[in-house]
Amino acid sequence: MICHNGGPDGATTFHDNPLSNTLPTSMEVPFFVPDVSEEEIASVVETLRSGWLTTGPKVRQFEDLFADYVGARHAVAVNSATAALHLGLEAAGVRRDDEVIVPTMTFTATAEVAVYLGARPVLVDCLDDTLNIDPDAVAAAVTDRTKAIVPVHYGGQPCRMDELQAIASEHKLAVIEDAAHALPASYRGQRIGTLSAVTCFSFYANKTITTGEGGMATTEDEALAERMRTMRLHGLSKGAWNRFAAQGAWYYEILEAGYKYNLTDIAAAIGIGQLARCDDFRRQRYRVVQRYDQGLAGLAEVRTPVSREGDESAWHLYVIRLETDRLTIDRNAFIEELTARGIKTSVHYTPLHMHPYYARTYGYKPDDFPVAAAAYEQIISLPIFPTMSDQQVDYVVDCVRSIAEEHRA
Ligand SMILES: *Cc1c(COP(=O)(O)O)cnc(C)c1O
Repeated sequence: MICHNGGPDGATTFHDNPLSNTLPTSMEVPFFVPDVSEEEIASVVETLRSGWLTTGPKVRQFEDLFADYVGARHAVAVNSATAALHLGLEAAGVRRDDEVIVPTMTFTATAEVAVYLGARPVLVDCLDDTLNIDPDAVAAAVTDRTKAIVPVHYGGQPCRMDELQAIASEHKLAVIEDAAHALPASYRGQRIGTLSAVTCFSFYANKTITTGEGGMATTEDEALAERMRTMRLHGLSKGAWNRFAAQGAWYYEILEAGYKYNLTDIAAAIGIGQLARCDDFRRQRYRVVQRYDQGLAGLAEVRTPVSREGDESAWHLYVIRLETDRLTIDRNAFIEELTARGIKTSVHYTPLHMHPYYARTYGYKPDDFPVAAAAYEQIISLPIFPTMSDQQVDYVVDCVRSIAEEHRA
């Protein structure tokens, strides 16, 4: 056996197992490590020295570069993807008592933004293969009150956008994409960020690029972009963000009761550097994916993630599914075994309908969405990040294999 429990101090030790004399018996593998370069740090320092700390020239530059990168006409920088989703739904006209269709297999931000607007998030089930939103379930959930669909590209794998757009155009619904996992990704050759009314990206610390906290909304629609720009900063009139810059530019008007969602230049300075490395990061994650795929191939107890032909995933997550029928331990015990070996993992996600708030408020029961509920019992997100070494990947593979073998039913 190659993989043993780590010592209490988690120290990396080596032994000369003839099967693998290069693999350590124990090592710490974090779930994610952000990669912030010295240039990005220097750029933050330079921004701090420039005297312009909040929304200014760096944010403008980041928006322009981001729009170029995904091929979108407009990019609106905000301080989180949650803010982008909120602004996107608001700009699309979602109001009190409207309904917004959201997958249950997501993070709460996707759904809670509907609640901000007094609308109701209507949860739907996912597909068994990609765990992306099920277009048939979306079609079945449409009512007279439905205003928008918020698909989530789970793990970075694009949703079936053609089917979702067809439902949306039939019922005149807005599609606001939650692309928090999907930079960079493409659906049938088209970059995610260009396909729907609004697409929302996240630059949270563990996303594919980071600004610490931050987000971006892209759109092809001038009016939607203008509305989001106004609402992200208190409903101030156009151009008011630079009211302190030019002499005499003290005058502004409040056009709406807006929000405080603007991104800082400090954050944008990091984002500019991160964006330049986005393709590199993706290549590195894909290296990890291929190594996992090869290493776990043929292991009957574990299903590796699927990728759809013709689409390109961002590979934000690498989610395995345990064939729990073939194991004597459940998912939680499997995670404990990995943790004992120094490997940090996560679960994406406990479906929203199984959380107290959504169950209590909307009366959901666990088996309302059987595909998501079943997947929830089986999924584990393995570590994946650009600087993850081949040795770390191999260690995780060996641990997954040996745990599966030890607990074979
Ligand atoms: C991270 C995440 C968000 C929220 O992003 P923030 O930038 O932290 O607001 C929304 N949806 C999904 C699917 C996410 O993973």
